[in-house]
Amino acid sequence: MNKDLPCYEIAPIAGNQHLVQNYGRFPLRFVEGLGAWLTDDQGRKFLDAFAGIAVNVLGYRHPGIVQAICRQADTLLHSSNYFHNAQQERLAELLVQSSFAGQVFFCNSGTEANEAVFKLFRRYSHKVYGGTKPRILAAVGSFHGRTMGALSLTHTAAYRDGFEPLFPVDFVPYGDKAALEKAMRPDVAGIILEPIQCESGVTVPPPGYFAAVRELCDLHGALLAVDEVQTGIGRTAKTFCFEHEGIVPDLMSLAKGLGGGVPIGAVVMKPSLAALLIPGTHGTTFGGNHLACAVGAVVMETIQRPGFLTGVAMKGQKLRGILETVLGNLASGPVRGRGLILGIPLIESRPVKGLIEACQRRGLIVGLAGGNVLRLAPPLTITDEDITQLQVRLQAAVSDWVS
Ligand SMILES: *Cc1c(COP(=O)(O)O)cnc(C)c1O
Repeated sequence: MNKDLPCYEIAPIAGNQHLVQNYGRFPLRFVEGLGAWLTDDQGRKFLDAFAGIAVNVLGYRHPGIVQAICRQADTLLHSSNYFHNAQQERLAELLVQSSFAGQVFFCNSGTEANEAVFKLFRRYSHKVYGGTKPRILAAVGSFHGRTMGALSLTHTAAYRDGFEPLFPVDFVPYGDKAALEKAMRPDVAGIILEPIQCESGVTVPPPGYFAAVRELCDLHGALLAVDEVQTGIGRTAKTFCFEHEGIVPDLMSLAKGLGGGVPIGAVVMKPSLAALLIPGTHGTTFGGNHLACAVGAVVMETIQRPGFLTGVAMKGQKLRGILETVLGNLASGPVRGRGLILGIPLIESRPVKGLIEACQRRGLIVGLAGGNVLRLAPPLTITDEDITQLQVRLQAAVSDWVS
């Protein structure tokens, strides 16, 4: 693989006439991947430090994933939730064993997982509290998905604009214990929070915040849901990010990394909540099919191998240092994040999109988050050699960008 420092000329690509133009796409078309590297349709190599938005946790063409997909394709892809499913049972066991006692509902995406969370808040109010808990809380700066329920839980105006009326949700400032104390009353069914707010800028809550949230929820009989769609599955060097906080949520939504590139979503919930979803109350056709769950099990087994998460922590430290060294002069604040979800806020006069494009010309894929933040979320399997390449390419891109 060509790992010399490249300098690509990236020409514009017109939007395809058959596709809805709802994405602002970069002018690149990838055709192949291997490890942490992508190849585009012109044969150019890119080191991927974004992993398809924190999805490809095991990189590209991971042998275990390839094998699981081939095996399921050659035996059974889908049989529906009319029937029992050994792959689903196996993945549910892995998820529960590594999180908290409970049961798993499988779906197909993050937004769909958060729809289930929303519906559980409602059902909890109706079935446990006789409908006396109509209020639902979420955080300022939150992102929980694009369907109507998940969008209602999402704070950022740009996502909501033109889609109102949405469901009533009260937003509390993220990380603010006193504000939550004021908002939390007996009429609250639940609160949903990201353990790190990824989309809006890789914001880590202050120490003790989640412990206080847990306490307030318990005091008022409210459910605590953590949205681990982006932070889960080893991304923060723990299997789930809530482990950093020393709390246990009542329910947790998962998606992105869980399928290693195959679409899947899940909600892990305590038994008392699982008991509310009796047959017929909720469901999905594709959710938890044989293919998605077989791959999910490979992902979970791989990240739980001895040393894997320690490796994520070490690589995260290294990457953090690189961001500080290379971008410190252009930063408006310190590096944020945990493990291999990292962000660095850049000064306002330097819109981060320019750096992303400069990185692409140097064969490096990076992402952005709100608040002019450069976001890195590489495959967890990124090697030390790759990280050295990342540093070289980022350094070159920054030099190009500022000159
Ligand atoms: C990406 C994301 C979602 C939405 O997931 P989709 O699969 O795009 O529907 C929800 N919550 C968080 C925290 C996310 O990062």
